[in-house]
Amino acid sequence: ETAHRAEAMGRGGDVSELRRFSHEEYLKNRAKKKVEELRDELADDERMFAGVRLTDAEERELKRKKELYNLVHGHASRDEGDGDYYRMPDAYDDAMNVDQGKRFSVATRRHGDDGSEARGSKGKKAFSEQESWEEQQIRKSRLQFGAQDRRDLSVDKYQLVFEDAVEFVKSAEMAGTDLDDDETDGLADEIKVTLQRELQDQRKALPVYKFKDELLKAIAEHQIIIVVGETGSGKTTQIPQYLHEAGYTSNGRRIACTQPRRVAAMSVAARVAKEMGVKLGHEVGYAIRFEDCTSERTVVKYMTDGMLLREFLGEPDLASYGVVIVDEAHERSISTDILLGLVKDVARFRPDLKLLISSATLNAERFSDFFDMAPVFKIPGRRYTVDIHYTVAPEADYVDAAVATVLQLHVTQPSPGDILVFLTGQEEIETVEEILRRRTRGLGTKIAELVICPIYANLPTELQAKIFEPAPPGARKVVLGTNIAETSLTIGGISYVVDPGFCKVKSYSPRTGTESLLVQPISKASADQRAGRSGRTGPGKCFRLFTEHSYAKEMEDETVPEIQRSNLASVVLSLKALGINDLVSFDFMDPPASEGLLRALEDLFALGALNSRGELTKTGRRMAELPLDPMLAKAIVASEKYGCSEEMITIASMLSAGNAVFYRPKDKALIADAARQRFFNAGGGGDHVALLNVYTEWEQSGHSAQWCVDHFVQSRTMRRARDVREQLVALLERVEIERRSSAGDLDAVRKAITAGFFRNAAQRRRDGAYRTVKSWRTVFVHPSSGMARVDPPPRWVLYHELVETTREYMRQVMELKPEWLLEIAPHYYKENN
Ligand code: ADP
Ligand code: MG
Repeated sequence: ETAHRAEAMGRGGDVSELRRFSHEEYLKNRAKKKVEELRDELADDERMFAGVRLTDAEERELKRKKELYNLVHGHASRDEGDGDYYRMPDAYDDAMNVDQGKRFSVATRRHGDDGSEARGSKGKKAFSEQESWEEQQIRKSRLQFGAQDRRDLSVDKYQLVFEDAVEFVKSAEMAGTDLDDDETDGLADEIKVTLQRELQDQRKALPVYKFKDELLKAIAEHQIIIVVGETGSGKTTQIPQYLHEAGYTSNGRRIACTQPRRVAAMSVAARVAKEMGVKLGHEVGYAIRFEDCTSERTVVKYMTDGMLLREFLGEPDLASYGVVIVDEAHERSISTDILLGLVKDVARFRPDLKLLISSATLNAERFSDFFDMAPVFKIPGRRYTVDIHYTVAPEADYVDAAVATVLQLHVTQPSPGDILVFLTGQEEIETVEEILRRRTRGLGTKIAELVICPIYANLPTELQAKIFEPAPPGARKVVLGTNIAETSLTIGGISYVVDPGFCKVKSYSPRTGTESLLVQPISKASADQRAGRSGRTGPGKCFRLFTEHSYAKEMEDETVPEIQRSNLASVVLSLKALGINDLVSFDFMDPPASEGLLRALEDLFALGALNSRGELTKTGRRMAELPLDPMLAKAIVASEKYGCSEEMITIASMLSAGNAVFYRPKDKALIADAARQRFFNAGGGGDHVALLNVYTEWEQSGHSAQWCVDHFVQSRTMRRARDVREQLVALLERVEIERRSSAGDLDAVRKAITAGFFRNAAQRRRDGAYRTVKSWRTVFVHPSSGMARVDPPPRWVLYHELVETTREYMRQVMELKPEWLLEIAPHYYKENN
């Protein structure tokens, strides 16, 4: 294997050293981040405590931090002498000193001639210090190891090379399944001709076909069955048809098959209608939110899990269904988890209801346990060997790396053999599509045609079918998909998978109490699923745009169920929105703690989302639509009343995008502080409005990266905020809140915030500290708040969150008029006479 690796590297050098490089580099990177964090904290503390007498505990804490800082900092810089490729920039200072032009030129070089504009809507992009540091390391690693000469992808000869080739090391093989050769060959041949044969033949070629009778027998004998099988084995498209053919619909009852994703429900329904030779919406149909494509005669109904939940409201026994298939259960979306609890209950009092839980991964035991030891039916899958390649060093920009890899594959790998790239969302997919078009257009007939097919949730239906069409002879198809292509949709003909290792997930931060859609590293289980997509029709290759070390040491084994990544108040809100009232005894597969549930109920009541009987109010229903912490959701719903929804969603986006809005280089600390204070003072009275000012000015600058540099703002955070804001704009429409600006009336904005965060009020004491109104805790204005430099400080403030370090600090603070509390939350505050 070592020999293979060496060959893969295209030279006979010492591969172990290369691998050591990437490993070490990762550790360095992390150490560097830690150093920065600590340094910031220390700087904050030192400023805060300047001239203040510290308590013993504070003294100790500060000392501990300093020690930690020295320790980490020492470790991080230890290697600076030996071989300069470990040298790290002195955090902020270097980042600020690096000439912007140079940084752009790095990007340009990697893009080739037209690269500087190639990012499409993103335009020019400044590298953050982190990125430029990574970039530097990668460049050095190339020089170090003579990698410039090695642009072919380790395997075949190439006719054309690109400047920005990504380096991979082949590391592992993901074994195929053990079928004996005859059988495998037979199947492979059979698959090859399916393109020309009838759909019925295709159906018979699917792995599940051979187990049809056994499966039907098992279903006849058991009420609940867990079905497990490799993606593409035919679970979703075939099993409902088998059940229909076997007569499960003859009693006038339907078969429901739920999907966590809308696109999957639509696309699979279309496919099955075709296989059954019926018009979509007749015998076979689908239902997703805002779209019901079913009719009286529909017997096989594909739907989102959320839709079936909604149907529960009107039909708690699911009487119209004879079979419910909870498909893609391994995804563990909140809706799926809730659904599992509900159908388990229904199955108890409806012995005639058949229940199938289907999953692509092999941890079926969990499902079996939950359903009182229901039998597990395994469909032996068919998968060929998949070679796994990792990048040698971390990629600074996975979008660029993905483009480069696709092009490399296209020119070096034999045709046919399509490519599947996993990206995180629509915007990213469009960016990659645009760059690919631009770069291949320039090459004319020098390379074979590349047919680009995007697939994501909001893709117009007409275009969705395109991903299933084979590329014309001689051409190669590249599918740019979101997580949807991981297990929900099976695309034939894929030989190469390019996996940057990220996806967009809803995540809740208990510290900040906010929930947002963030791009995060995927789990190992996901990475393996993705790799498997290349081995369906023949041996495959998967190119991971992350290092093997990162896979082994940094990625989680399994994706955490959504219900555990979510704010409980949000979960309760959704359950209530579904009419589920008895939360404490609800049968969750992974139950949340009951104190948590009760607290969530109280909080929702105080926000006006529930009435005194615990029922959802109209406000609550709208809040439930917004994927934000209920307090923030309430502020947005309330902004309608105060005519400032535009401002409010901007603030919500900035708050959700994280705390790293500003940075503060050591040598320019005063200028940076002044720049930051200017945002605070313009408009006055609070950090929320300061964030609004930052966003507004950034937007007016044309989302300029240079503007960010000039104002000590982190452009990465700003881009994330813009992304969140776009999602919120779409959601405003859905909950029918008109987009309106209060045109400079900042009290309106502050009142809307108060409507959501009235619980977080604090009053100044004589000694200058604040006391929270709710729990009488002593809290301080965080030194990073603009409010820390207001003299005299206001008597009343409202904070977004509390953070605990050496003291309890309020972060994101605004001035409050106490009469607003009585006006806006009279149920919560009484006048104190
Ligand atoms: P599973 O649910 O086990 O992952 P599916 O039933 O989704 O498998 O897929 C079975 C087969 O049907 C796959 O080979 C897939 O390529 C094909 N298929 C599914 N949906 C479509 C579609 N919309 N168009 C063309 N082929 C499809
Ligand atoms: Mg499926």
